[in-house]
Amino acid sequence: MQLTQQIRIFPTLEQEEVLWVLSEKCRLIYNFALAERRNAYKNGVKGVTYRKQQNDLPTIKEQYPEYKWVYSKVLQYVLKTLNADYKSFFALRKNGYQDAQLPKFKGTQYFTTMVYNQSGFKVEKRKVAVSHFYNDIPLEFVVPEKFSFIEDTCIKQVSIFSKDERYFVAITYEVEDPSYIDNGRYQAIDLGITNIVTAVNTTGKFLVVKNKRPDKYWHPRIIKLQARRDKCIKCSNRWKHFDRIVKHYQKKCADQTKDFQHKLSKKLVENTKAHTIIVGDLKVKSMAHSTKVPKHMRKGLNRATQNTGSLGRFVHFLTYKAKRVGKSTIEFDERNTSKECYVCGKLHDMPIWKRIMNCECGNVITRDKNSCVVLMKRYLSQNAKWTGYQEFLDNLRYTAKGKTRVPSPKFGYGLEDSQEAPSFRVG
Ligand SMILES: [Zn+2]
Repeated sequence: MQLTQQIRIFPTLEQEEVLWVLSEKCRLIYNFALAERRNAYKNGVKGVTYRKQQNDLPTIKEQYPEYKWVYSKVLQYVLKTLNADYKSFFALRKNGYQDAQLPKFKGTQYFTTMVYNQSGFKVEKRKVAVSHFYNDIPLEFVVPEKFSFIEDTCIKQVSIFSKDERYFVAITYEVEDPSYIDNGRYQAIDLGITNIVTAVNTTGKFLVVKNKRPDKYWHPRIIKLQARRDKCIKCSNRWKHFDRIVKHYQKKCADQTKDFQHKLSKKLVENTKAHTIIVGDLKVKSMAHSTKVPKHMRKGLNRATQNTGSLGRFVHFLTYKAKRVGKSTIEFDERNTSKECYVCGKLHDMPIWKRIMNCECGNVITRDKNSCVVLMKRYLSQNAKWTGYQEFLDNLRYTAKGKTRVPSPKFGYGLEDSQEAPSFRVG
């Protein structure tokens, strides 16, 4: 698997100038290529593709020699980025997101990420260097000691980017993963907003983790500041002052959410004996725009789905962290998992605010728990590799009756049923 390490770099003033000159050239190429595509679309011309634009690069360099300053593969990558931007735009439109926007022209303040793919870079002990042909100032950056591990791994790509007036280098390298073996133990996870994780394993044991909501702490503060900011004259010093704090708070909120997701996914993957983790195939977007939710609740839910950081990202974290330790994450069809009673299979009308399922068959269970049990049932019944389906159901009945079960050291999560996730600091 490929991993990427982001390292902050501290270019000297001369180096910074070189970086900006190169970035500017990349930015212009991006904008020209975008203009070409837009014009072609307007005039009904076909065939303006990535391949065509890449083949045009040598001609452009002949006419305007300053484009030779940039390493050739970096320029090609800029065109690839544009192509990818277009592709994602079309994909979004195709999936029904009508408010998807065309790629935009980049303004003068925009620092274009420079990607050195396969060649043009050199990573040595505590040093990263990339090539350019602008002047004789080398683009060499010192890397802190703790990153020296990357020297003996296979490095695929080096890219330089800037964020909030700070510079970073991202190094992508290849690592070998242990191979995945199905050990007959499974864990099904239902993801949600209130309880980010509701899991059940094949021994019928549940794990519920409440979601941390840093946005609940930060959001009122941000709103207050935004109100004060908007009373000032736009772009005045006072406005800028408030704007800076608003951005700082927003970043803090986003970072804390991400941090929580990283830590939780790591714990989940490491604390289970199961080698296979089953998660529902998410459609977070449809959750946010669901019109079936009553109006007064819709606002809160929309905000929640957007602010808790996408659950899709959480699945991504789970997937790659599992892969790193030889486990596997499977996305499985979760249609109607929260509507179907897991005992008798009857479909109930379960709008999103209804938290408890009350079935005529006597089954009373929270929505999330029911959902993950159904998910597990479905997976086990469709994958005949393992015969533990009945065993799972027996275990489940056993725990559902409320009998105390002697915890066996062979199974379990390391976390008790009702115990919350290890506390992560908010604020
Ligand atoms: Zn039922």
